[in-house]
Order: sequence, then C-alpha cells, then structure tokens
Amino acid sequence: MTCKECKGDQTEGDCYICAMKKKQSKPIEKAYRYSDPTDRKTFADLKKDQGSKLITKSIGGQKFALLNFECKMEGSRAVYTFSDFHRYKDVNFFGDRPAVYGFANYDREEKVKIGEGKNASQRLRTQKTVLKDTTLKNMDKTEGFLLFSCGSGKMKDDPLRSRNLRLAIEALLQINFKIPLDKKTGKKRREQHVVPDKNELDLALELSKWVFDKAPSSLKREGRKFTTKHS
Ligand SMILES: [Zn+2]
Repeated sequence: MTCKECKGDQTEGDCYICAMKKKQSKPIEKAYRYSDPTDRKTFADLKKDQGSKLITKSIGGQKFALLNFECKMEGSRAVYTFSDFHRYKDVNFFGDRPAVYGFANYDREEKVKIGEGKNASQRLRTQKTVLKDTTLKNMDKTEGFLLFSCGSGKMKDDPLRSRNLRLAIEALLQINFKIPLDKKTGKKRREQHVVPDKNELDLALELSKWVFDKAPSSLKREGRKFTTKHS
C-alpha cells in the first residue's frame, strides 16, 4: 500500500511520515494536540488569561515566554493557576511543547526543583503528583515557572526542541537556584552531562539570566546575583 501524499510505502493505517510532517508545521502559537475543536486554546488566550504572570522576550528573531504560576490543593486535587490550559491528558496548549520549568519548596521547604522536558504537559502532570505527596502536604501552595517558545514560527523552528539547549538552561539555573542536595552524598546533585554548541550556549545564558531575574522570589536566595560559577 502506498501513501497518496508522500508516495511512501506503508503497511497499514495512516502514514506516519506524513503525520510527523504535519506536526512539524503546526504554529507555535497554537495547541499542537487536540481532539475537540472547541478546545483549541492558543498562546493569545493564555496571555489574556494570565495577564502580567506571563511575560515575553525576543532574542535573535525567536520569542520566548515565561509563565509564573502557583500550584495548590483544590479538594483532593493539586491544580495549577493555568489549569484551563492543562486539561485532557496532553490535548492542551502544553501537549508536545518543550519547556524548562522550576518549582519552589519542592519536596522539602527551601528547596527548588529545576527540570526540562520535550512535552511540558506530561511533565506538569508528573510534578503535580509529586507536589501533592510532598510540598502541598505541608504548605498551602507553591510557586513555579515555565519557560517555552511563543513566536510566530512553526513547531520545527522552536529552539527549545533542542535537548542540548534545554539541558544547558537547566544546568545554569541549577547553579543559581537552591536545588536539593543528594540525600546520600550531601552534595549538589550532578547535572546531566551536556555539550551545547556556541549558539545554544549563548541562548541558554541569556534565557537563564532572564528566568533568574523574573522567576518567583520564593525560588531565590535573598540578594543573590546571577552566577556561572559551578561551586
Ligand atoms: Zn505519507
């Protein structure tokens, strides 16, 4: 059987090559996955809903968004302040959207969790479960941030699709925020090994400084300046 669109071979069902190509060309400003056409929330919707909690920055023709948020218990469920945009598994604005994130007071008081993922929706769901079992047992709420792309390009143009870039940002933020110490060694947990190229490193540095400057104050040590010294 041959796919009518790409003329490639396919043994059964829809053509996966064509499905992936379609996905690459989805606009960054729109949700990548949806089944219900009435739930196509866009970046403009998110901006309108979150107001000053969502800020943007343009670097070298790319546009980035930083969303500061809270997570708190609502009955027996942990919910984010942007929960209308994080519904239906991955069928939401953050489904398949690469991001770097952070949470204050993670696990234990005065500790910060920094992470990255290629699918923010999935990560946010996982972290919510952890927060519910740890932080939110002792505190009313916790604060966090989410860094992602919001430009006018297509999904394939999103620089944060590079895991090297995400890991470089993660490493720079881990140096600057109060990350937990390894329970066994008592030392800072070792970052994942990453060797970004020059452009990725420049971009990672600029984005990390911006996030450090604008993230919720509960993630920061008082009076601490941005540093690239790893010690
Ligand atoms: Zn095809």
